[in-house]
Amino acid sequence: MKTKFIPDGYMGEMPAAFCPSCFKLLNGVTNMEGQEKPKPGDCTVCMGCASVLRFTEDMQLEMSSLMEIPVEYRFNFAKMVAAVKQIAGIR
Ligand SMILES: [Zn+2]
Repeated sequence: MKTKFIPDGYMGEMPAAFCPSCFKLLNGVTNMEGQEKPKPGDCTVCMGCASVLRFTEDMQLEMSSLMEIPVEYRFNFAKMVAAVKQIAGIR
């Protein structure tokens, strides 16, 4: 499977998967707190629509929400969602 790296601030890679909300092809990921690759059950934010997503067992993406993020990470996650919205021009 082809993977691509986010050129700026790259920290991880992921199998190509589509966002279930906006269908953007997502094939790079940045780990907020280390060098580990994403694994099933981890959450991420779509760079296209700022949806909170979760990796499934086969490393595809499904919809999640901030309420499913462990409380100790939720604030940082919310900030990341806000930052992506700003970058993507979503209100
Ligand atoms: Zn999306």
